[in-house]
Amino acid sequence: MEGPRPGFARLRWARVMVAMLVVVTTLAPVAEAAKLRISNRYSDLNRERSRRESTEYIILHTTEGGDRSSLRRVRRAGLAHYIVMRDGRVHRVIKRHLIARHAGRSMWDGAKDLDDHALGIEVVGYHNKPITDAQYTALAELVRQLQSLYEIPDENVLTHSMVAYGRPNRWHRHEHRGRKRCGMQFARPDVRARLGLESRPLADPDVAARRLVVADPFLETVLYAPAAEADAVAEAEFEGPDTDVITATRTAWFIARDRFNDPTTAYVFPSGRKRFGHEIRDWSRIPPGTRVLLDQEPETDGAAWLTLARGQAASVLAGEDYDADTTVYVRPDGRVLRGDIMSYRDFRRLPPGTKVFVGFEYAGKVTRRHTAYDLCGPRSREESTLYLLPGGHVRTGREIREDRIPGGTHILVGS
Ligand SMILES: [Zn+2]
Repeated sequence: MEGPRPGFARLRWARVMVAMLVVVTTLAPVAEAAKLRISNRYSDLNRERSRRESTEYIILHTTEGGDRSSLRRVRRAGLAHYIVMRDGRVHRVIKRHLIARHAGRSMWDGAKDLDDHALGIEVVGYHNKPITDAQYTALAELVRQLQSLYEIPDENVLTHSMVAYGRPNRWHRHEHRGRKRCGMQFARPDVRARLGLESRPLADPDVAARRLVVADPFLETVLYAPAAEADAVAEAEFEGPDTDVITATRTAWFIARDRFNDPTTAYVFPSGRKRFGHEIRDWSRIPPGTRVLLDQEPETDGAAWLTLARGQAASVLAGEDYDADTTVYVRPDGRVLRGDIMSYRDFRRLPPGTKVFVGFEYAGKVTRRHTAYDLCGPRSREESTLYLLPGGHVRTGREIREDRIPGGTHILVGS
């Protein structure tokens, strides 16, 4: 993965040949195919995604939600190649030769950005709750077919929690493993046996090589210790009741992970007062007994945007959609940038005060030649259409008079 390997091209051809044979054999028996109820629910993002360099891993995720919200989220952001619903039905979301964005900041055996080398499967459910029997059957068959198609060995079927890693933060001075517990249960030997997987990684290669440190010893136990040992610790504090309450040992980071300072993470103090992650400045003063609620609606005084604070990363505000085509950044100097065409430097240079619009399509700039109607048709009058006026003010389609829109106004359409 890091540099050319001798004989790689020839090996690849051999693989293609084998893959073609496998396609024929996997498609042939009707009984086999019937086991997998699979249909297309492709994301609109397919046409923008590039081809994947190689396919060496399958990464398993849990959506941490129910059927409907999970499917909507996964499709909207192109978060996986497949999603396995509670009743065992499987949907194709991103075409399997293209890149799906599921692993985020990831590393395995020294290689980063696993999305370039892995297929992603989202399983509707939670990292620490059993999946349904129908999901077991479907996931086992889906994984089996993909493994044979791409020649992926059992130990390369990984979980998101195995490959995700975090940047240094207030609680961890080094890059660390434990950023997510996503898909954690799929590391357990008993679960893998039901999925037809006979082996698993026995240790974290990046921790062993000291590229990363362990930030979540509990997760480490679940991922790599024998099942009995994992069961014993699972009953202990970290997966027991009240796991969303801050204690002396259970920090905000431990509960919310890298979403600790996110506007969708709410902190309810023992006094009943509520603050959102991005509003908290002094993390040492959060009292024990504070409850941490994830996935809250951000309260932004009714505004449709979030504002970047000093030293805050775009991904903290926009989450996994930070580099999506439906995330638009408006810098204080009026420059408008779209997430998917921004470079790493563009992200690093976003000044504090930048407005972040998540879930909007950029329709264009009003000029003498292009009216609002030219740019977005009847949607120009909608409440969810925003006009970014040259002076920095924002108006909705309901509030603005079309003949009063100054040239240079940018239009965003709610997606
Ligand atoms: Zn995941």
